[in-house]
Amino acid sequence: MLEVSGLSIDLPGRSTAVRIVDEVSFAIPAATTVGLIGESGSGKTMTANALIGLLPDGAAVQGSLRWRGEELLTATSSRRRELRGDEIAMIFQDPLAALNPTQTIGRQVGEILRRSGQSRAAVRTRVIELLDRAGIPEPASKLASYPHEFSGGMRQRAVIAMALAGSPSLLLADEPTTALDVTVQARILRLLRTIQEESGLSMLLVSHDLRVMAHVAHQVVVMYAGRVAERGSTAAILRTPAHPYTRALVQSVPAVRTKSALAHPLPGTPATPAARPAGCAFHPRCPLARDRCREEQPVLRSIGPDRWTACHFAEEVLDERPA
Ligand code: SF4
Repeated sequence: MLEVSGLSIDLPGRSTAVRIVDEVSFAIPAATTVGLIGESGSGKTMTANALIGLLPDGAAVQGSLRWRGEELLTATSSRRRELRGDEIAMIFQDPLAALNPTQTIGRQVGEILRRSGQSRAAVRTRVIELLDRAGIPEPASKLASYPHEFSGGMRQRAVIAMALAGSPSLLLADEPTTALDVTVQARILRLLRTIQEESGLSMLLVSHDLRVMAHVAHQVVVMYAGRVAERGSTAAILRTPAHPYTRALVQSVPAVRTKSALAHPLPGTPATPAARPAGCAFHPRCPLARDRCREEQPVLRSIGPDRWTACHFAEEVLDERPA
């Protein structure tokens, strides 16, 4: 469905451009959820925003973003607008910011349907269906409600209903549960998984939280300092991380580990794209770092079926894993 190849994004810096995203490549197959995970500054949100053309002024983009074979980077802004909300829909972190406080929920969810010329009655019926699908109880009675009358979880459900209104083939969800409390987070994640499975749509889920990926994503792309550190199936990556950064991420979340109940916080501070260390950007924090790591940037290489890693010593990492 979507192929990202060699995507690089430079933003203007104080004296020289800063490479925020560096040669990122991955694909989102049909009916599959791919998770982009990394700490703050890893470039995950910038990568997702590039897919829908939401980059800051002055951003210079290289590489290729192909949607069903069509190059998005060279598409006209009107073609991109057409795709956005129609074939590709987005769910943002803060539902309050995504909703217009002065319009009713029914009006906002029905917006895209009205634009497509459907009758008032058809739009009303479809909006009720969409709210119901998003898990909003008694949807007919909520059409005239305003966003401030909804809880945070209900607002995110309304945003999900809005995103589904155009029957998209790809849903981009950027930290969709971060602004919600823990019990609501789990329900929204279950809802997203159900919608993805039932509709057979593809989803790109951006999150800093490995537990979110474990629940929803079929495949994960682990990003560090704007580069891909590792990618592959979620189950394989959680079970046998082949990059020391991924391993540290997994060990920092005891709930996703099977062997240990102890959390080990990630050591050191994340590298920023503006001060990316030479060689492997993770080397100042890596317990396996040696001279080669400080001098030579590791390339993303295949280490087995559906597994890629950018570590010179991935085989050693795999050998070191607990029995
Ligand atoms: Fe660590 Fe070296 Fe692998 Fe980078 S290349 S993750 S520094 S072992």
